[in-house]
Amino acid sequence: MIDQKGILFILSGPSGVGKGTVRKSLFEQSTDLRYSISMTTRDPREGEVDGVDYFFKSREEFESLIEQGQLIEHAEYVGNYYGTPRQYVEETLDQGKDVFLEIEVQGALKVRENFPQGVFIFLIPPSLEELKDRIVNRGTETEEKVKNRLLAAKEEIDMMDAYDYVVVNDEIDHAVSKVQSIVSSEHCKRERVAHQFKKALEENTI
Ligand code: 5GP
Repeated sequence: MIDQKGILFILSGPSGVGKGTVRKSLFEQSTDLRYSISMTTRDPREGEVDGVDYFFKSREEFESLIEQGQLIEHAEYVGNYYGTPRQYVEETLDQGKDVFLEIEVQGALKVRENFPQGVFIFLIPPSLEELKDRIVNRGTETEEKVKNRLLAAKEEIDMMDAYDYVVVNDEIDHAVSKVQSIVSSEHCKRERVAHQFKKALEENTI
C-alpha cells in the first residue's frame, strides 16, 4: 500500500529452546519477512555456510565492527561474540520490509533499548527438563558447555517480562504458526493501519 517502515520482529528465548529450528521452519514457509544474518566469532558447524547461516568473523574483525558502530547489538555468549548488523536492518526497515532477528536474550534487551517499537517474542520450552534433554541430545557440546547453557537458560526464563509475546515451543509447527499469527496481528494494529490511511489521505493517493 503506502510506504511505511517495516516492522522489526525479535525472536529470543533461552538457550536450547529451539529458536533456530523455529526460525528456519518459518523461513521455509514465509516469504515476506527478511532474516537478518548475524555476525559471530564462533567456528562454523558442519554444513554451515558463511553469509547464509552467519557471517563468520575473527575476534579482531568483530571488535572493529563494534568500534565502528556497525552492530545494533552484540553479546558475548559461551565464549563467542554474536551481533546484529546495523546497516542491513536499518536499510531493510526503511524500505518498508519487515526484519526478523533470532538472537539470545542479552542482545534482545539491547535491541529493546534502541528499537522500543520492535515486536519482541519470547520462545519458551514446555519444561526446563525437556530443555535439558534437547541440549544434551544435541551431542555437539562438551559437558561443561551444556552446564553453562543450562545455567544461562534458568536466568533467561526470568526475563519474560521484557517481551510482548510468549510462544511455547511444544511442537515446531504450532510455534511457527503462532509466530506467523503474531506477524499478521501486528500488521492489523489500529495505529499502523490508521497511520497508512491518514498518510494516503494527506497525500491524496486514495
Ligand atoms: P549458536 O551458536 O547455537 O548458533 O547460537 C547461540 C546463540 O546465539 C543462540 O541463542 C542464538 O539465537 C544467538 N544469536 C545468534 N545470532 C545472534 C546475534 O546476532 N546477536 C545475539 N545477541 N545473539 C545471537
